[in-house]
Amino acid sequence: MHVRNAVRGVPGFTRAKGLCHNAPMRAQESKYGFDFVCRGCGASGPLGGQSACAACGEPMSLRALGTLSPGYLRRPPRSMWHYFGLLPVTSRKRIVTLGEGATPLVDAPRLARRFGFGQVIVKNEMANPTGSFKDRQVSVGISHARECGARTVAAVSSGNVAAATSAYAAHAGMQAVVFMHAHAGAGKVAQAAAYGARVIRVESPSPKEVFGLCIEACQRYGWYHLSTAGMYEPYNVEGAKTLAYELYQQCGGHPPDWVVMPVGGGGLLGGVWRGFLDLKRLGLINRVPRLAGVQASGCAPLKRAIEHGETFLETLRHPWPDPKTVAGGIADDILFDGHTALPAIRETNGVVIAVDDEAIIESQQTLAREEGLLCELTSAVVIAALPFLPDADASSRVCCVVTGSGIKELAWLAGRVPEPSRIPPTMEALAACVEAQP
Ligand SMILES: [Zn+2]
Repeated sequence: MHVRNAVRGVPGFTRAKGLCHNAPMRAQESKYGFDFVCRGCGASGPLGGQSACAACGEPMSLRALGTLSPGYLRRPPRSMWHYFGLLPVTSRKRIVTLGEGATPLVDAPRLARRFGFGQVIVKNEMANPTGSFKDRQVSVGISHARECGARTVAAVSSGNVAAATSAYAAHAGMQAVVFMHAHAGAGKVAQAAAYGARVIRVESPSPKEVFGLCIEACQRYGWYHLSTAGMYEPYNVEGAKTLAYELYQQCGGHPPDWVVMPVGGGGLLGGVWRGFLDLKRLGLINRVPRLAGVQASGCAPLKRAIEHGETFLETLRHPWPDPKTVAGGIADDILFDGHTALPAIRETNGVVIAVDDEAIIESQQTLAREEGLLCELTSAVVIAALPFLPDADASSRVCCVVTGSGIKELAWLAGRVPEPSRIPPTMEALAACVEAQP
């Protein structure tokens, strides 16, 4: 790949231009009610201009300029497109939707007692159409791709983005090509393939390398790049903002003290932060909740960056050397959305917590057995992080974003859960069985 002035080690991203291979398909952008803003230095500019900041070199992100009336926000959403006015799609007719968003907020009293908090609430993103919060981002991204005239979309994924891309492309009558990491679980590969995408597994442990291949393929074949990585594709990450809007409504206009989220590339964290900033701009909230990003101790580039005071561009120069964790959805060696994730932590007095695999596996079981919510391992990091949440006590309201479903990992779970009892169909056998067990 030949890119001028490239940031060393990062495929396709240049300080001068960012990465805009989707740009030639963009049209009529002034109608969106958005501009570009740099969260690194505060510079801003119109859409359609450079997608990297001319002043500091960081990727620009979208900023909504539109409004939603308070009266409108009193009506409960039926999907995340309730917030159409704050999403970067010009025509409702081009929306590609399977009913994503409007997910339940579930009270978790046993978790609250276990960790000594006033309240724990779970934002259940498992209820999305393909079983993860990525549906929000892909719905926005593929709607924008359709507005741009794209016929084929391509994305890099460890699993959830692949499933979402494949499903939404099928619903839109488009082709999908998904580049899946070598460590992607068999269930997630099967889910993506079931919706009809062309699934390509790339034998590399490095998401950075897989991105490089996907980007080069998009340039060669004219595919729309739909990966949920804001440094490459600033549109689809807007979908994550709707989670903050919903939390605002579901909490009666009083968001919780803490919102705890898994962090891989950082798109969810950065998106939720920007969603709360929108609510603040609209005068609906006075303060943004403190945000906690949770990583696996075997792959924690955001924690390292916060501790070392790094800028986003500095983080790109040294990818995490050898990502190793059971939480495959957050095994990202670089922070593809670090330009919004870093300020999300710094500007909300937030925290980054790293948890080990043993705690992640145990937390998946805890959430399932104590609250009836079976999440994927990647999502269980938020429960594992709760003992380490600072300044949280019996007066605190803590929201855990549970991002993806454990139903995607049933093959992994089989053999790790208690074996069923096997009996002949007699009362005697049943009595012997149930009376032998507590
Ligand atoms: Zn800047």
